[in-house]
Formats: sequence, C-alpha cells, structure tokens
Amino acid sequence: MLQQFDPRNKDIQVYVKDGLYPRDEATVSVFDSSVQGGDAVWEGLRVYKEGIFVFDRHLDRLFDSAHALWFQGVPSRDKVKEAVFQTLRANQMYSDTHIRLTLTRGEKITSGMDPRLNQAGCCLIVLAEWKPPVYDNSGIRVITSTIRRNNPAFLDSKIHHNNLLNNIQAKLQANVAGVDAGLMLDHNGFAAELNGTNIFMIKKGKLLTPFADACLPGITRGLVMELALELTIPIEERNISLTELYTADLVFATGTMGELTPILEIDGRKIKRETELFERIEKAFFAKRQEYCEAIPTVE
Ligand code: PMP
Repeated sequence: MLQQFDPRNKDIQVYVKDGLYPRDEATVSVFDSSVQGGDAVWEGLRVYKEGIFVFDRHLDRLFDSAHALWFQGVPSRDKVKEAVFQTLRANQMYSDTHIRLTLTRGEKITSGMDPRLNQAGCCLIVLAEWKPPVYDNSGIRVITSTIRRNNPAFLDSKIHHNNLLNNIQAKLQANVAGVDAGLMLDHNGFAAELNGTNIFMIKKGKLLTPFADACLPGITRGLVMELALELTIPIEERNISLTELYTADLVFATGTMGELTPILEIDGRKIKRETELFERIEKAFFAKRQEYCEAIPTVE
C-alpha cells in the first residue's frame, strides 16, 4: 500500500515556526535540530468532516514528549491549536486530511549536539495534506523484523520522537519481503508493535495487547482499550509471543494511519478471521467519531 502523490497537495500552505508558507517555500534551517539530530517530536492526526480526531490527546502526548526531552521555548497549547486551525482554514481542509504536526528543538547557533546551542525556541510545523487512511480496512500482511523496538533501557518508546530509524529499518525489511509492515519484537522476543501501528489479538473472546513497555502507547490503542471496557470485552495487557499471534482468532493493527486494520498474514502464516468481536469493537470505534472530534472554528 504505497501512498501516491495527490495532486490536490501541490499548492498547499504549510505552517512553519511563525506562519504559513507555500509548499515549496516551507522549509526549516540546516541548523534545525531535526536536521542535526532527529531532535524533534511529532503527532499524526486525522481530520474528518466532524473535526480533528482526539486533538487534545495528541497534544497531551506532544507536550509530554517535549517535556521529557526538556525542550525550551515550547509554544502554548493555544498557539499550537491556532496554528493547526489556521493551516486547515488556509487549505480549506475540513475532511479526508492527515496532519503531520512536528515540534523540533529549534534552530542551533552552530552545528552540534548540545541542546544549549538551541537559543531560538522550538520550531512548530503543521503539515496538512489530503490523505485517505494509509491502510484500508481490508487488511494487511506483515513479517517479523529482526530489528527490535526500543524499550526504556535505550530510548523510551513513550516519547513520540523523530528518531525513527529503528522503525524505518523494520519497514525496509517488510518492503523487501513484499508485505505491508514489519512486526517489531521487544528485547525479550515478545511482540511490541508494527513499525507504525500497535497490535492487538483476539483469542477465545478475549482481547490482548502487548504491555506499552516497548511500543508507543498509541492513542487509537488507548481508545480500543477503553471501548473494550465499555463493551465488557475482557482485555489484558501482557507479553505476547509470535506463536500466540500465529494461532490467534484474529489479529489487528491500530493507529491514526489506518484506524483498525485486520492482519491477514504474519510470516506467511494465514491468521484466522473470526470477526464477531472485532466487528463489535470496530462499530463502537466509528460510532464515537462525533464525540471524539473537535470542530474546526470558522474565522473569527
Ligand atoms: N506505533 C508507532 C511506532 C507509531 O508511530 C504510531 C503513530 N504515530 C502508532 C504506533 C499509533 O499511534 P496512534 O494510535 O496514536 O496513531
């Protein structure tokens, strides 16, 4: 499922630092921390006709990540929200849109690793594009990657940072294997997540997902766990081995990029599709859209 260039995105306006710029002029400095060290945090958000999906939860994670990395000169929540609204209004994007929201540590006075070289505050980027969900609901095929997902001993996966090389390497392996995503294990060999989405399995009426020790605690993952409680579906976070995934009644991925997506095949093994429970969760998930969306204010 390789994304294609959408000609509607040719002339988009992108917010960088303090205002909007046409796509070709929307750039960061070569001294920016994202260029120098991948020193940035980010969020991927979706805009539906009802508004921006779980906007505040994404902002909470963005600010938590920036705080953990001790960014200075972080813009206020109101400023970030206004920048997002402004960008959407400028592009007339009120549905079918994906927003890549990035906050870098900002520009350095000279190249180097030391965060004390960052004296200009953070750089906020709001990149909104016309984009359908990357995975459609028909399902994906995955392989297990040899690249392990970070745990807090190395780089805490609770920080949603731009050091994505581990995940990119897993995706490279998936590309070579001709499948959609790489399944990443933790350092003990248990499933952590896919290279860009979280993972759940269903077995005998129970929903299971790996501990959030070596995976991003995804917002979609959190919503699914809340829905399971509402629907009184037993749910457990625990270590999950590959064999358990191969023999599950259904396995699915969750994330902003694909919402809820069944996993049809792992390492060549066809995964069962006993869909009754999955369909209940999926239905409840879509039924919540209105409640979870924040409307985009019209011009003051
Ligand atoms: N895992 C990884 C590695 C991700 O990058 C993402 C999304 N950026 C997710 C899972 C899914 O998280 P969310 O549900 O918050 O989109």
